[in-house]
Amino acid sequence: MRESCGLFGIFSPKPDPKISRTVYYGLIALQHRGQESAGIAVGDGEKIKYHKGLGLVNDVFNEEVLGELSGHVAIGHVRYSTTGSNVFENAQPIVVAGQQGSLAVAHNGNIINTRELRSQLEKKGLSFRSTTDSEIIALLLIEQGPDMLHACLDVTRTLQGAYCLLLMNQNSLIAIRDPLGFRPLCMGRLDDCVVFASETVALDAVGAEFVRDIEPGEVVLVNESGVESHRTAFSRSAFCIFEFVYFARPDSVLENVSVYSTRERAGRILAIQQPADADLVVGVPDSGTVAAIGYSNQSGIPYGMGLIKNKYIGRTFIQPSQKLRNLGVRLKLNALRELVKGKSIVLVDDSIVRGTTMGQIVKMLRTAGARSIHVRIASPPIRYGCYFGVDTSDRRELIAAIHEEKKIEQLIGADSLGYLSLEGLVKAVGLPSDRLCLACFNGIYPLQVPSFCTKYLFEKE
Ligand code: SF4
Repeated sequence: MRESCGLFGIFSPKPDPKISRTVYYGLIALQHRGQESAGIAVGDGEKIKYHKGLGLVNDVFNEEVLGELSGHVAIGHVRYSTTGSNVFENAQPIVVAGQQGSLAVAHNGNIINTRELRSQLEKKGLSFRSTTDSEIIALLLIEQGPDMLHACLDVTRTLQGAYCLLLMNQNSLIAIRDPLGFRPLCMGRLDDCVVFASETVALDAVGAEFVRDIEPGEVVLVNESGVESHRTAFSRSAFCIFEFVYFARPDSVLENVSVYSTRERAGRILAIQQPADADLVVGVPDSGTVAAIGYSNQSGIPYGMGLIKNKYIGRTFIQPSQKLRNLGVRLKLNALRELVKGKSIVLVDDSIVRGTTMGQIVKMLRTAGARSIHVRIASPPIRYGCYFGVDTSDRRELIAAIHEEKKIEQLIGADSLGYLSLEGLVKAVGLPSDRLCLACFNGIYPLQVPSFCTKYLFEKE
């Protein structure tokens, strides 16, 4: 599973020489949502200045760069690519120039009708610098003329898929959430500034107070006149349940639900549904840690840090090939021999995607002397790809789409394997199931999806 992206935006009623630093801190807090590229655009009332690059937020920005980005409105982005590869041209914010000014756009999600939208723009003679769906959105918007709000209300009617957008010109900031509200976006206050962020952790990081979530189908305009809310369309909410399972940080609150509490409850329900006779509960850090604590709390089996994570290595899936991914797991995790030796272990993780990482962790624990390993997964088997901003659209890579549970148990080398049921997961989240997207578990997509989807849609073979 690969994250989508992280967004952070701020509007200050007066010029703020430190505005880009605030965005920088917000992006650092959202780094888990995308580690391929980072960027910040700032408007100073006359023009948009921006800086972006490949790598982590800390690699892309330094004091000097931030010092040059002053103004009163700013947006920032961290990216994991779901349309287009990891090249500089695809880094965001995307800044486009029209006849009457420029526009900067930062996008989290995935648009599924990009092929038609791009060919419409090509017919008008527009050319593209990137291979992303985000540039298509930016060009569609700038095509509409200088009234940014009107452009947003018009263009969002043509977009299908998942999109949280932050966009700005030199004066104003707009936040948009798609009508199904797949991805999170919240609003906060920092003194007299209005702030938007993908997750509440970014508000915490800059000292902002949470105000509310942006509603599905809502467009919020912030300028010198204040904050205005407008509506596009609204059908039903389809918030991505995987935000709770894996993407979001445990210290975030999404849709008024604590991510930490959800994962702890998922672990508890997992212990009831999939008990195991064991001496120790071990979580796969960091994604399985909270569910493992929940499993331990419910079962009474002690929790121990049987796996130690090297914090200075990025997530393994950043590696482009399986061979490098395999090496990445060993660099990232190590078994604590004295804790696991001779023990029967319940190994808890949030999910299994390809199964290769889990297989290596089981092997690592056996090598360290574990007597038996019972793998427990705090979500149901992932059998379907995602078209809404998560890079798993190729079903052939999903182990649970190809194999039955008994076979997966064998392939990962576990003594037993047990998953949380979908009902159990929804119960742990505590939101009604008809407000959630559950498609990667049950194949019921909230929108009609294309028969074929690849993130390299606009790139030559
Ligand atoms: Fe989230 Fe899965 Fe729906 Fe994609 S298909 S939005 S990962 S629940």
